[in-house]
Amino acid sequence: MTGAPCVISVAITGSVPRKRDNPALPVTVAEQIESTHAAYEAGAALVHVHVRNDDETPSSDPERFAAFQEGIRRHCPDIIVQFSTGGRGRALEQRGSMLHLRPDMASLATGSVNFPTIVYENPPDFIRSLASSMRDLGIKPEIEVFDLAMLYNTADLVAEGLIAAPPHVQFVFGVKHALPARRDILDFEVAKLKELLPGATWTAAGIGRHQFEVARWALEMGGHIRTGLEDNIRLDRNTLAPSNAALVTHVAALAAAAGRPIATAVEARKLLGLSERRTT
Ligand code: ZN
Repeated sequence: MTGAPCVISVAITGSVPRKRDNPALPVTVAEQIESTHAAYEAGAALVHVHVRNDDETPSSDPERFAAFQEGIRRHCPDIIVQFSTGGRGRALEQRGSMLHLRPDMASLATGSVNFPTIVYENPPDFIRSLASSMRDLGIKPEIEVFDLAMLYNTADLVAEGLIAAPPHVQFVFGVKHALPARRDILDFEVAKLKELLPGATWTAAGIGRHQFEVARWALEMGGHIRTGLEDNIRLDRNTLAPSNAALVTHVAALAAAAGRPIATAVEARKLLGLSERRTT
């Protein structure tokens, strides 16, 4: 028996890991393009992107996002490009400053939550303004659910027409001070998602050592999966991941073991209700 195709997202860089944690972390735009290309060839259909300054601090520079998008569309034209509107060290007003570049998708957290050392701040008006910019620019949000209220807030925003139905939701586990990686929590979230937002698609992302365990649950339950050095820099307790592609290869094997074929980027666009690749 073959299961439904699974979309693999790769979060290549993020805002926290440093090269001193894992030298394979892509930091410059050129490194990011190369790393994404290899991850795409290993099976990733969606790339989640934060950009960095030369000193590795998080950047909001739209030119860096533009250079990444232009480069990646040359190398892997079908891959789904998703920009992060999160990230530490970025002022609220900067976090959507690259949306005019019209990536296929952008992340959208529908509530505030404590992270290990900071508050990840998403005030109600800010969420609404990001959601309406995305709607007006034809960008599909990926709703980031770090806590249960965020799912209910999403349902309200969909009912109001600020987010188009059916949405794509990512359930995040294992961030200290947010939800722990527990299968019963994912079961509950998915049940509520089906009830509140019929037709919604979902991904589960586990941070750090929880990554592969959470991926196995999502594969069993018919969800999509995420990997990448943003979330997890190791292949196992003692081995640093040599690349984003190596992490993608690892979760692709988990998908195969679960009887789930890997969605190509073209298939992933259909599954997530995205248009064919952008030409502008
Ligand atoms: Zn991110």
